[in-house]
Amino acid sequence: MSALTNEVSPHIPLAGGDGWSNEEEATATCFCGAVQLKFPTQAPGLVRTYLCHCTDCRKITGSMFASNFSVLDTHLTHLRGRENLTSFSQSRTVASKTTMTNYFCSTCGTLMYRVTSRFPGSRNLRLGTVDDFHLHETKLKPKLEQFTESRVGWLHDMEGMAQFAKSSR
Ligand SMILES: [Zn+2]
Ligand SMILES: [Zn+2]
Repeated sequence: MSALTNEVSPHIPLAGGDGWSNEEEATATCFCGAVQLKFPTQAPGLVRTYLCHCTDCRKITGSMFASNFSVLDTHLTHLRGRENLTSFSQSRTVASKTTMTNYFCSTCGTLMYRVTSRFPGSRNLRLGTVDDFHLHETKLKPKLEQFTESRVGWLHDMEGMAQFAKSSR
């Protein structure tokens, strides 16, 4: 454990609702609060943290890139609202042409995670749904950027993050 994470208490703003974090785990909650996940904030359950500039991520987020982190299915818990998730799958626009399935809250539309048939056994969660915003700055800070070939022109290499023109794996 780093001294930093021990010294700074969780920062859970209003949008975080009843979320929490401790040394090993944290919650991710949709905007309306119906869906809540629990995940590990370290390996092996936490696989990787990254920014994705692919054209799908732009469209899905309604923004210029997605801030993602991957968690092993064996280490992810649906605390509530799993039945409130709706899924949408397609492969047409996915670079690898494999199927990507999106799971989002049926009530508020927050995308909670994506699953790719290319890497079964893990899910790609969204950094912005993590309730403890302090984790966005520390343990879950993205380590790399991928699909920089389709990154919007007014964004540049993020300092300290490895760069990948296409998929990083
Ligand atoms: Zn919701
Ligand atoms: Zn992407």
